[in-house]
Amino acid sequence: MHLKTLTLRGFKSFASATTLEFEPGVTCVVGPNGSGKSNVVDALAWVMGEQGAKTLRGGQMADVIFAGTSGRAPLGRAEVSLTIDNADGALPIDYTEVTISRTLFRSGGSEYAINGSPCRLLDIQDLLSDSGLGREMHVIVGQGQLDAVLRATPEDRRHFIEEAAGILKHRRRKEKALRK
Ligand code: ATP
Ligand code: MG
Repeated sequence: MHLKTLTLRGFKSFASATTLEFEPGVTCVVGPNGSGKSNVVDALAWVMGEQGAKTLRGGQMADVIFAGTSGRAPLGRAEVSLTIDNADGALPIDYTEVTISRTLFRSGGSEYAINGSPCRLLDIQDLLSDSGLGREMHVIVGQGQLDAVLRATPEDRRHFIEEAAGILKHRRRKEKALRK
């Protein structure tokens, strides 16, 4: 399984439809400050179901919708589609290619789809959760976080790793149980 394409339409600074193509392996996104590199990563988190406006570096969810520039009017919706190569069947769905999409309207409504069929957020989370791409299984290290990791004490560093590995919630449960 690997990511194939990511299409942004009206998402943050990407007013016009923009498609990024990924090959298997490591992808680097390079560009000047403010050119939209982090917005691409935000789009990836968003289409996979991210619900936290802060995680997406905004104050409210509507901040992901293109807000306009001096030369271009704001848009009424943001749309992101992610196509995943599923030739190895890692996603529990009978398609060799799976496209998940998310749309948010400035009026407040939102839509989710799997291969063009409308679905719920829960359906997308369920689809991704067994594959290593789910809500708690993918890890996005934000700008500045790397510094925090490098400067962290060994205890803090273990905390990051346990969170990334999904162990933290079990540790918390264990500690809570031991306190009783
Ligand atoms: P750096 O190298 O500094 O990290 P970057 O390439 O990661 O830069 P981003 O943070 O992805 O840059 O992009 C920031 C740009 O996106 C800013 O110019 C900001 O105005 C623009 N932007 C963010 N949200 C919106 C929005 N809703 N509508 C229009 N533009 C937006
Ligand atoms: Mg950035």
